[in-house]
Amino acid sequence: MKKVVIIYGPPGAGKGTQANLLAAKLNMIHFDTGKYFEKILHDPANQKNRIIRRERKLFDTGILLTPSWVVKTEEIEARKIHAAGFGLIFSGSLRTMYEAKHFIPVLTKLYGRKNLHVFALNVPAEVSIKRNSNRMMCKFCGYGLLSAYYDVKKPKHCPVCGGPFYKRTLDNPATIKIRLKEYKERTEPILDFMKENGIKVLKLDARPAPYKVFERIEKILK
Ligand SMILES: [Zn+2]
Repeated sequence: MKKVVIIYGPPGAGKGTQANLLAAKLNMIHFDTGKYFEKILHDPANQKNRIIRRERKLFDTGILLTPSWVVKTEEIEARKIHAAGFGLIFSGSLRTMYEAKHFIPVLTKLYGRKNLHVFALNVPAEVSIKRNSNRMMCKFCGYGLLSAYYDVKKPKHCPVCGGPFYKRTLDNPATIKIRLKEYKERTEPILDFMKENGIKVLKLDARPAPYKVFERIEKILK
């Protein structure tokens, strides 16, 4: 059965890792909206577009993108994935109340309300900051190294493809603080909105290793 899984949590909670595990193990599509928007907003071919330039400025400073533009862009992509016959995973989206109100009806219409699962991963702020400021991403394949589980201090090469690592502008300590604040003020109320609308939100402790958190998610989905 095709499902929609939405994973929430502050930066560094492991949303992307869980989403990738679900995609690999349950044959679903991880619609990584952060990566998706980073790619289209930083694409040199799009820089003549005034809307793209406006959104890029927001993105690079850690402020949430314009909700109406986000929803329109995401809906097109979600419909493609559904039409291709795949279940859908979101990590970190839908980020604003506007997005939730406008996009949840689209998703429930496509997949059915009972196939919608929402998880909230919890980690304390200090864990969030620590995990993010150590985050290394592969420039070539996008792999994110879980630094906490490696002894090497400054790894230079991606273990998946040998490509060079880089630090995302999003993961600067000052930007992480803005992202944490944005999460609290703009994303957390969405969880209440969902509960009020009869959508179950399952809270999980995300401090253990990702594979342990995944075992819990998988059990719940089955
Ligand atoms: Zn790589």
